[in-house]
Amino acid sequence: MGGESVRCSGCGGAEVLHVVTAGFIPGERQPGRLLVYCGDCRRRQWERPPTPGPGYAYDVSIPIELVTPQLFLRLYETGWTASSMETASRLVFGRVPASVRRKMAERRASEDG
Ligand SMILES: [Zn+2]
Repeated sequence: MGGESVRCSGCGGAEVLHVVTAGFIPGERQPGRLLVYCGDCRRRQWERPPTPGPGYAYDVSIPIELVTPQLFLRLYETGWTASSMETASRLVFGRVPASVRRKMAERRASEDG
């Protein structure tokens, strides 16, 4: 638990981590995958897209120190990502903060009802 467990989704490194949303169509607003990348992996993924097609774009890239649970939730509310909230939360925070847990419960309730 805690910041020490937060690592790059690409290489497992812990240097200069950014929270990114990665969409597949550069310049289009779309809910991308939410990932945590270090400086090297961000650069590598940008230069060598992992998927064929028109390209691979980071629509959002925020230094991880700036990402609060509130900002994390805003990325969902504003449609920048549709990643699993629990999985993404563990990537970013190493845990699921209470406010994220509450939002997940709200979403489940609105899907059920
Ligand atoms: Zn990395």
